Amino acid sequence: MNLILLGPPGAGKGTQSARIVTVYNLVQISTGDILRAEVKSSTELGKIAKSLMDDGKLVPDNLIIDMISGHIEKEAGSSGFILDGFPRTEEQAKALDVMLLEKNLKIDYVIKLEVDEKALIERVVGRFSCGDCGQGYHDKFAPTKLTNICDVCGSKNLVRRADDNVESMTARLVAYREQTEPILPYYEKKGALTIVNGMKTPEEVFEQIEVVMS
Ligand code: AMP
Repeated sequence: MNLILLGPPGAGKGTQSARIVTVYNLVQISTGDILRAEVKSSTELGKIAKSLMDDGKLVPDNLIIDMISGHIEKEAGSSGFILDGFPRTEEQAKALDVMLLEKNLKIDYVIKLEVDEKALIERVVGRFSCGDCGQGYHDKFAPTKLTNICDVCGSKNLVRRADDNVESMTARLVAYREQTEPILPYYEKKGALTIVNGMKTPEEVFEQIEVVMS
């Protein structure tokens, strides 16, 4: 089973992907995570991507399409994958269709997490995670039990994304509205799109996703 999770930054794509991965035994392919790893390793792609990501702008389509192709190829034999953060433009959506056709794969569900835009900035600006085990937290909604110590692994290495600030987030929302939202009708026309209310608790959002995938 393969699916695409769509929605603005802060909609909960990463949180829901983590749950889907565990319950449905799928692999998460997050273009944001892959790019952050490229930045960390200072690869050629990472060097190009860094300032665009910090500014909340999209990385050029050709670079993203080349990057994702290998990841999809690698996961083609697995029990399925979740695309998180891809496609983000019409060109990427069309390139994905070509890739899937070539690899004899198909997308079973396209799920859009719908979230009130006002909630997004607060969600994103307050979030942080454990740099060691990856557990996610939020200053207001999900703080650590002990100040600056991960509840799960006890690490003090708590990290925030460089682009989780008001300025970058404002630009990321513009990019979402202008470049990503226009691909929704593309999937709607194919009859593949389901909209899920992302304003509920993570558990309730996941329950809605389970209904879609049943
Ligand atoms: P995310 O972790 O999905 O919020 O992505 C973080 C940043 O990585 C975005 O703001 C973009 O700069 C870049 N990025 C991630 N996925 C894509 C994509 N599919 N196309 C272009 N840029 C992307």
